[in-house]
Amino acid sequence: MRNEDLDPQRSRAEFALAMIEDLHWLGIRWSEGPDCGGPYGPYSQSERRAHYLEAWRRLRKGGFLYPCVCSRRDLAQAASAPNEADDEPVYPGTCRERKDMDEFTEPAGVNWRFRVPESEVVEFADLNLGRQRCVAGTNFDFGDFLVWRRDDVPAYQLAVVIDDAAMRITEVVRGADLLKSTARQLLLLRALGYAVPEYFHCDLVRGVAGVRLAKRHDALSIRHLRESGITPQQVLEMAGWP
Ligand SMILES: [Zn+2]
Repeated sequence: MRNEDLDPQRSRAEFALAMIEDLHWLGIRWSEGPDCGGPYGPYSQSERRAHYLEAWRRLRKGGFLYPCVCSRRDLAQAASAPNEADDEPVYPGTCRERKDMDEFTEPAGVNWRFRVPESEVVEFADLNLGRQRCVAGTNFDFGDFLVWRRDDVPAYQLAVVIDDAAMRITEVVRGADLLKSTARQLLLLRALGYAVPEYFHCDLVRGVAGVRLAKRHDALSIRHLRESGITPQQVLEMAGWP
């Protein structure tokens, strides 16, 4: 169990406690996590800054990153997983050729982007959806993406790659809305010299109107179901759990 609580605006200790409590209620158990410890802790991202900083230094030294001074407008989503409706916009590469990188010895104060290899094809075999293919580059599927925000928060893409490697994750199961993120993360894994895990992207669970479930849409939460008197078994049946 990993608590992805990097965004200070959206992460509160009581949310993490409620999540753990709801999952326990549902009958889900784990052998490592913020509540029980384990060999690869800490398990809350907010306590793992040293790992991300070390990776930032290595990537910067290797010439994979550059500082970006573009407006905050496109940054709102960077610390959380992008989704199908608002995948990180393709960055046009405005700051790519800046020559002042040496002025920034710490990540804070400017945005840091990963320089993607222009028009390189990124492919992987998804365990559920089969062969996947993305093209990196400004005119293709994704541009130079954020790895660290100006307000000193490591971006989702960087944090999960570092944690997956450090926690010896061998299989990543997540929603199909993150297929393009996987292509970005494969580039990060290669730059850092980490082993590539296997990926299984599953269809999203949707609400009655066909809209993806999301906290910001006030979607039906486990807590909500629990309070309405439904049993854990009924929730698992609704979700198609075998
Ligand atoms: Zn820029």
